[in-house]
Amino acid sequence: MLKEQLSVFEQHTTPFYAYDLGLLRQTLDLARAEASKYGYHVHYALKANANAPILAEVLERGFGADCVSGNEVRRALEAGFGPEQVVFAGVGKSDAEINFALQSNIFCFNCESVQELEVIQELAATQGKTAQVALRINPNVDAYTHKYITTGLEENKFGINVWELEGLVLRFAEWPNLRLIGLHFHIGSQITDLRAFENLCVRVNEIQRWFEDRGLVFPHLNVGGGLGVDYRAPEENPIADFAAYFKIFDLLLEKRPGQQVHFELGRALVAPSGNLISKVLYLKHGQKTNFVILDAGMTELMRPALYQAYHKIENLSSDLPEKTYDVVGPICESTDCFAKGYILPETKRGDLVAIRTAGAYGEVMVSEYNLRDKVKAIYLS
Ligand SMILES: *Cc1c(COP(=O)(O)O)cnc(C)c1O
Repeated sequence: MLKEQLSVFEQHTTPFYAYDLGLLRQTLDLARAEASKYGYHVHYALKANANAPILAEVLERGFGADCVSGNEVRRALEAGFGPEQVVFAGVGKSDAEINFALQSNIFCFNCESVQELEVIQELAATQGKTAQVALRINPNVDAYTHKYITTGLEENKFGINVWELEGLVLRFAEWPNLRLIGLHFHIGSQITDLRAFENLCVRVNEIQRWFEDRGLVFPHLNVGGGLGVDYRAPEENPIADFAAYFKIFDLLLEKRPGQQVHFELGRALVAPSGNLISKVLYLKHGQKTNFVILDAGMTELMRPALYQAYHKIENLSSDLPEKTYDVVGPICESTDCFAKGYILPETKRGDLVAIRTAGAYGEVMVSEYNLRDKVKAIYLS
């Protein structure tokens, strides 16, 4: 229970992120145990949270690193991940980022367009290197999640479309500095309807057979990440159902002999361990609406403003009878609102509030807008 930490929280200046390293370790241990049942490799998606103490826990458990920028590659290497554990995706890798990753001898570039392959070939040739690449293919599979965090549909910018593959396989002969080692997919995030992963497996099998018909068998399959967490009931379901998730792939994904299967999980590994702790600055009573005005806003946690995300909110200081509030931040934007019509115990100036399940895509998206101070983090072991 977060309330038990109230006296600890009261010693710190708000707002701040509080990470529960105990829960993080439990989560990582369970994910590792379930993945290792099938010999699966898990790469942690750094973009969910790249704080050093979090990366240290991830690294300790032998996970790899999934990066989407040159600086994430650098951060992963600095944190101690070996270059052979680093994969690099992203639709817009700059020449400088590609050059840095080539120099670092990363395991694999997950390539998202034909032109990107041409550029990696050219830069690798200049460096006298061979780049290992996987094709990120857009499988046109619905993730049944919010449209803002769907990535595997034709209308999304991510990946190479299947109709481009025919032309593409013919061109690999022109690219002596690329070694095509695998296929990569990532259909979206916060996926709670696991049928989306079943559909993904079916598509991957079809696409894999298509390549086989053309004499191409790959040593690696990377099926991305996206496993969701329970934002509504973090106490009841603090850890995602890794067992059910990996089992789907074991049952449905057609693995060729010796083929290695890779996953890229971000949110499910770190989201529940993080909470944003904020103080109530003001109460304001409108005609219809009671506002709780916090000292944290969209600059500290952008997900509600960015993609209408829900976070559970808890008043840690009050046990009074409940009332209905709009919970908002101090930033000069109307979208700076964490929740509308939200039921909380009667709330007063000075109460401490926890915005739950904020460990992923929270602190990494912090902005300086309104010249805000950078939010701090504390770690509870
Ligand atoms: C963001 C991302 C992930 C991780 O997604 P989660 O929903 O956090 O698991 C994995 N792979 C790629 C390519 C990504 O961009």
